[in-house]
Formats: sequence, structure tokens, C-alpha cells
Amino acid sequence: MIEGTITKVSGPVVEARGMGGSRMYDVTFVGEMKLIGEIIRLEGDNAVVQVYEDTSGLEVGEIVTCSGHPLLLELGPGMLSSIYDGVQRRLPDLAERYGDFITRGTVSDPLDRDAEWEFVPEVEPGRSVSAGDALGYVQETKVIKHLVMVPPDKEGVIADIKGGNFKVEDVIAVTEDGVEFTLMQKWPAREPRPVLDKLDPVVPFITGTRTLDTFFPVAQGGYSIIPGGFGTGKTVTEQTLAKWAEADVVIYVGCGERGNEMTEVLSEFPALQDVRSGLPLMERTILVANTSNMPVAAREASIYTGITMAEYYRDMGYDVAMMADSTSRWGEALREVSGRLEEMPGEEGYPAYLATRIADFYERCGRAKCIGSNGRTGSITVIGAVSPPGGDFSEPMTQNSLRISGAFWALDTGLAHRRHFPAISWLKSYSLYLDRVEEWYSENVAMDWKQVRDKAMMILQKEAELQEIVQLVGPDSLPEFARAVLEVARMLREDYLQQFAFSEVDAFCEPIKQYQMLKVIITYYDVLQEVLVKGVSLKEALQIPFRAQISRMKDIPNQEATERLDALQAEIQNELRKLIRY
Ligand code: ADP
Repeated sequence: MIEGTITKVSGPVVEARGMGGSRMYDVTFVGEMKLIGEIIRLEGDNAVVQVYEDTSGLEVGEIVTCSGHPLLLELGPGMLSSIYDGVQRRLPDLAERYGDFITRGTVSDPLDRDAEWEFVPEVEPGRSVSAGDALGYVQETKVIKHLVMVPPDKEGVIADIKGGNFKVEDVIAVTEDGVEFTLMQKWPAREPRPVLDKLDPVVPFITGTRTLDTFFPVAQGGYSIIPGGFGTGKTVTEQTLAKWAEADVVIYVGCGERGNEMTEVLSEFPALQDVRSGLPLMERTILVANTSNMPVAAREASIYTGITMAEYYRDMGYDVAMMADSTSRWGEALREVSGRLEEMPGEEGYPAYLATRIADFYERCGRAKCIGSNGRTGSITVIGAVSPPGGDFSEPMTQNSLRISGAFWALDTGLAHRRHFPAISWLKSYSLYLDRVEEWYSENVAMDWKQVRDKAMMILQKEAELQEIVQLVGPDSLPEFARAVLEVARMLREDYLQQFAFSEVDAFCEPIKQYQMLKVIITYYDVLQEVLVKGVSLKEALQIPFRAQISRMKDIPNQEATERLDALQAEIQNELRKLIRY
């Protein structure tokens, strides 16, 4: 065991000597209190350790022991419905044992050692198995079947395998060479888990939020960032996605935006119901929480803990969504530690390696052919909130995330002030996945999905141009066809883009309903333009009260949408065309 002594304490960063033989990112226990940390710099015998717990009271001369291994996560049944901190300690377990204020240096097994799981073997003795092969499964929760897989670095011919009730550390199978398999495996958090092949992101990640799915879609395995100033709706959006988006497993990483916010998540999530299964949402969710009383360095660990758990469920063939709120806190942790290390600062004091760190992290999402011989595919979609100070998108964290993200959902303070929610700007946001998911939409939703979507976007952009003219000369000077554009754009904004996250019917809008709602508005636009050309006045056309019917489309339940919206579309065509005098 390598044992050194503390030579300096500087906030979350501790220096120690006598650490020769240890390696970068080895986990260390610092001081008499055994605070958990990771080695982030090594020079000869001297190590610099980033500590994941409050270091106050720590003194020069206290001992530092090196565990000899990096931050290893325990991956196995029991993770779902758990609430962890950044280094995978079970928070409820700690709270039970130590009260609300977690004593420093406490340890908690990430997976409950006493829980029993019924293992159902799926391979027979004599079978040769290698990395990723499923040995069998455990029904982890009512909704998730947990494959017990051969870890990426193991293989062999099965000599013995048995079904029955087991604890996570019990041996369930053994190879002819004596390699033992248990229900759980360990994996270093900072190391990506291998895949056979990365696949193109061509399947949309359905969120049920119209502005996201229709205008700025993210693909399964994609990466989207959602930057916005304080109070613009980052947390509400992340939580709405966690509740509603079509993912098998959700990993929610809260990086302590504000202290009470995480408390809200911790108390609210366990009470939420999964609308699809009617069971608690936690049956397919893992929370990783860094409350604000945890030191900054822990926020970095939580990001890696979250993505490693996501990879593990992806390996089973699941579509996993990881929400990180907010990645800016992670950036700040890097900045603070880099400052303490007296590294050459880059832009605004962030370390020069900020961009590479972000890129390496997001490299871990994607749609992939999983390891193992069963031909599974899985995906990890990451939605990262960014909180730029003062809502200024030119700051380094937003810019560096933007450079590698596939979709950019820009929250707009002006929209939030006007209570247009979700406050996602249709003029500033973009998605690089649009062309990738088009085929899926034309096969599964409607052949003209892209045309209808593009036309709606054109109307919204046209509105922005016309608004400038209106501000100069007033709306009355515009020709009727242009005023019709303004009228329809208003419908698009208020009756389509606005979507109340807390509405029972409208919080999740099926892709088909999204298309049909848009089709109604675009039909209205087309027929309006058609009758205007044929001499009908705009005033006359607007007298037919379609506006009211269109604004009520949101409240139509998903299952009734097709019939009722088709009827509305036909009615619009008939009634407006009746105005034409031949
Ligand atoms: P941020 O995390 O960006 O600071 P929040 O997500 O806490 O902001 O949102 C602030 C407030 O905006 C919420 O309390 C809620 O009232 C409102 N809000 C945001 N998005 C929506 C939405 N989609 N539907 C309804 N209200 C919303």
C-alpha cells in the first residue's frame, strides 16, 4: 500500500509526497478522515490529489493512502431507482446511517450487498463466451430486464452456471480456466466502455415537445445542448425530457445549479409516475446528485459516473438518455482545479484543455452495435444544459459545447419573459440531425413531413423579416398576403410552439399528432393564400372562427388526434373556398 503525507492543502486540491508508484487517476484516501480523491498530477514522488469532499480542517502532515486503482464503478442490478452522489455512494443509504449531513470520509457500497436477485441463466455449460455475451438475466425492475454480461476484458468456456437467488457478489458462473462471473462487474469511470461499431444516428429521439421534435430534432445517440440564462427553462426542459422522452433508461445528473433545486429533484422524482407503464418513473431512472454543499471537484466525477452507467445499460441493448444539468458547473470545477494547479489559463480562466475534455466526454454518446454475439444495438443520447453567466452565449463553455453538439436549443430570455414556453428560440436554434432523421419521419409519420416542417419554418422566418417592416411603417401598410403570413406565424407560435410542460394532455405530443397539428396550420396558410389570390379579402377570410379551433388542437388527446385533425383540415379547405365568388 502506497502511503504518503500531505504537504499542502488548497481548497479541493491537496499535494502529497511519498506517493511514488501510484498512477494518474488512482483513487486516494486523504487524511485521517479518509476523504475520497483522485490523483490528477504526478511528479516523481509528489502527487496532486483532487478531493471530492470538503477539505476544511485537513492539515499538512496527515497521511494519504493510494488505493492502487482508478475510480471504479459497480455495475449490476440495483442501480435503477438509486440515488447516487458523484462517486457512486448511495445517498439514501448514507442519510439513513449518518443523518442529513453526510459525514466526510463515509463509504457506502454502490450496490446493496444484501439484496437478492433471481438470476435466469441463458447459456449452458460448454459454451464459449466472450466480452459482452449475456450469461442470463435478472428482472431488475418491472420494466427493465437486466442482462448479466461477460465483462469487456473476460472470456472463456463455461464450466458451471446456475440459476436461482443470488447476491451481487455471489458467483453465478465459472469458466474452465476458473474465471468467475458475478451479477456485478466493475469499470473505471473515466474509461469509455467498448462497442463493436458506431452506427449512424438516423432514428429520432422522440421528446414529445413539438419545437424540439419538429424543428430541431436530436437523433438517438446524438448530443444536444440547451443553453440559457437563469430562469429560462433549462431545468424544466431537462426534467420534462426525463419524464416523457422515449428512452428505456434515464440517467439524470444534477450538478448542483442551486442547492434547493437538487432537493426538489430528489423529492419529486421518486414520486413521479411513468406515463407509459403506470409504475414509478424511478423503475427506469438513476439519479446522480451533487448538492451544492459538495465541493466542486465532485461535479466532474458525477459526469463520468453518469455516462459510465449509461454505457452499461446501452451495452444491454437499451436506448439510454442522459440529462446533465448543468454542464457549466462541471466546467467551473475544471476551472477551479486548474487555477489551484497554477496551470496556464485559457479563455476566461478555463483550462486550455476544456474543449478536449468536453469533446472526449461527448464522444461517449452515440448509437452503437454493442459488444457480445447477440447483435444488440443501443444508444446514449445526451442532453446537456449550459448556464452561461448573464445569458451570454459567447462564453467558453457554451462555445466549446456548441462546436461539437449536433443540436443547439437556444433558450431565449425575451421569450421566457413573455412566458412563451418552452422558451426555445426558433431563429437561433439549429439541428444537424434534421436530414438524418428525415427518412424515419417520412416512413413512420408522413411522406411530406419535411416539406410541412420547412414551410412552417419559412413562415416563422418570414415573420421576423416582416416584423422589422411593421416596426417602421405599421401593419396596415403591408399587403394582404403578408398580413396573412403574420397571422399564421402567430398561430405557429402560440398554438404550436408553445407547450405547457405541466399540462396533462399536452406535455407529450405524439409525433403523428405533431405532424397533423402542423399540417392543419399549413393547410390554413395555403388555402388562405389561395383565396386571397382569388379576390377574397383577408378580413372576410379571418371571420371564419378557425383560430379558436386551431388553438384548441393542443387539448385533443393523442389517440383522438388523427380523426379530429383530419376533419378540421377538410373543414378549413371547404369553408374558406366557399368564400370564392366565381
Ligand atoms: P433555469 O433552470 O433555466 O434557471 P427553470 O427550468 O427553473 O429555469 O424555469 C423557470 C420557470 O419557467 C419555471 O419555474 C416555470 O414556471 C417556467 N417554465 C420553463 N419552461 C416551461 C415549460 N415548458 N412550460 C411551462 N413553464 C415553464
